[in-house]
This record gives sequence, structure tokens and C-alpha cells, in this order.
Amino acid sequence: MSNLLRNLLVAGAFATVMMAPVRAADAPPAPTKDPKDMTADEAEDSGHCPVCKKESKPVYHFEYKDKEYHFATRECRKAFADNPEKFGAKGAVATAKKEPAKK
Ligand SMILES: [Zn+2]
Repeated sequence: MSNLLRNLLVAGAFATVMMAPVRAADAPPAPTKDPKDMTADEAEDSGHCPVCKKESKPVYHFEYKDKEYHFATRECRKAFADNPEKFGAKGAVATAKKEPAKK
């Protein structure tokens, strides 16, 4: 990776952090994260479809890496089953209780 690209990535990440409070102030107070901003795992954990971020239904489910994901429609389930990583799904392996990261 070139230094220029790396600097751009760092600047982008920094800008995202700087923008967060501004966006939060503009948005109406919400106790939970907007489902649209959730990762697949956050959506699943809060009862939302990882694909369309609508309320998921128990009847549409798919297991990926030892974690059960639930979906709003059969189409969502199929899209997810075809490529879970496309939706950022990490499964139970990565979302299991976090151990202290080695430094
Ligand atoms: Zn869906």
C-alpha cells in the first residue's frame, strides 16, 4: 500500500470520527442505532434482518459459522446464504465473548 493511500485511509477514518457527534446532534434522539447502520451481527442481535434491516421473522433463518441469522423474507435469506460475508456477517466465532487482544 502506498503512503498516499494509507494517509487517505487514515484521514477518512479520522473524518468519520469527527463527523459522528455532528450527525448525532442533528438526528432525533434514538436509544438504539439505526438498523440501516448496523452490521449483520448487530442487526441479528437486535431482531433485524441482516439484509434489508427490517424486522426479522423466526421462520426465515440460516446458520453461518455457528450463529443463527434471521431474515424478513425468503429472498433475504437466500441472498445471505449465497454470500454471508457480503453482508459483513462474522458468525459466532468472531462475535463470541471477546478475549483480551494480544498487543
Ligand atoms: Zn430482509
